[in-house]
Amino acid sequence: MARDNATGERLELRARATVLATGGVGRLYRFTTNPVEATADGIAMAARAGALLADMEFVQFHPTALAIGRDPMPLVTEAVRGEGATLVNDLGERFMTAIHPDAELAPRDVVARAIFEQQQRGRTVGLDARSAIGARFPQAFPTVFRFCIDAGIDPRVQNIPVAPAAHYLMGGVAVDEWGRTSLENLWACGETSATGVHGANRLASNSLLEALVYGSRVATDVANVRPWKPSGYTPPVRARSIPVPRTGAAQAQAINDLRNVMYANVGLVRNAGGLREALARIAELEAGAGEDGPLRNLLVAGRLIAEAALERHESRGSHYRSDYPKTDEALAKRSFSRLRSVA
Ligand SMILES: Cc1cc2nc3c(=O)[nH]c(=O)nc-3n(C[C@H](O)[C@H](O)[C@H](O)COP(=O)(O)OP(=O)(O)OC[C@H]3O[C@@H](n4cnc5c(N)ncnc54)[C@H](O)[C@@H]3O)c2cc1C
Repeated sequence: MARDNATGERLELRARATVLATGGVGRLYRFTTNPVEATADGIAMAARAGALLADMEFVQFHPTALAIGRDPMPLVTEAVRGEGATLVNDLGERFMTAIHPDAELAPRDVVARAIFEQQQRGRTVGLDARSAIGARFPQAFPTVFRFCIDAGIDPRVQNIPVAPAAHYLMGGVAVDEWGRTSLENLWACGETSATGVHGANRLASNSLLEALVYGSRVATDVANVRPWKPSGYTPPVRARSIPVPRTGAAQAQAINDLRNVMYANVGLVRNAGGLREALARIAELEAGAGEDGPLRNLLVAGRLIAEAALERHESRGSHYRSDYPKTDEALAKRSFSRLRSVA
């Protein structure tokens, strides 16, 4: 399906090969670095069509998004901590040294969860770059500097307010090494897909590498497996058009509710009670969600993430269960799922 921007109509297009590359699911969460388009469309479409999904419980949160009330939240790159900036709460306590031997340079999930736990205790968190970077800040980190100055914060002399934000989905539509999904004629690449290369916790910068490698593989596979024959090719047809329901205030409110419950219960720290509560809220929202639009897609992805998180009885990578805080080596395997109630 596509939308004709000129008329606002929904079009049914037919193609011999379809590649999903619509990015991630960040908009499911109250706090995210992801752009407004990251509404899980490709994942939800594939799931509704019956495709196999993988590793949906693994959502990576970036520890240091700039907490200045913007949505999406701008990133404060990890390189700022790499240069020696430290994390402190509003009591001036440097809390990372008590949590991990690498302190601020601990893995993303450890730092993100530590900041989240500070927030749960009512504290705010800042990145103190004053002595480590100080006057060099504008030259060393011009983009972060500009965001800070625009928000009235001078990182040369003030702490930078930070908070964890949903950043990347390791899971997605399950694909093989050529980007083939479980459905005939359907490929996926980039963040929409789950190749397995990121495990439970992507290393910084590997997503662009993956998108390049698998984007190219998908193109090769589409060309090789189903040879392109211009003479026999029928272009996508406008089979029928369907009016698009408007995203009204009720839908916007429902998306807001969903984003809050996902951040609170299906975010950095999870437990069975909270996950069940989130699934119950998702079911209520599904009941009033209409046939189309970002809400429906976000609900599909939210359900898949919450269900997968409920089923993994351990903590691993970005998936942390306070009721199962240890990693269980017997569970060191990928998870696969399908949308149970394909609507
Ligand atoms: C702030 C930020 C910084 C990052 N920095 C890095 C980094 O340094 N290194 C790294 O490796 N990764 C980084 N990432 C992650 C990386 O950017 C993403 O994983 C990557 O962009 C995913 O590429 P993609 O092509 O799959 O999806 P996207 O780049 O998200 O592209 C998806 C496209 O599909 C479009 N789309 C979505 N839905 C629809 C629809 N229904 N119909 C039509 N079009 C649609 C969107 O508008 C968008 O153009 C960063 C992410 C963020 C948010």
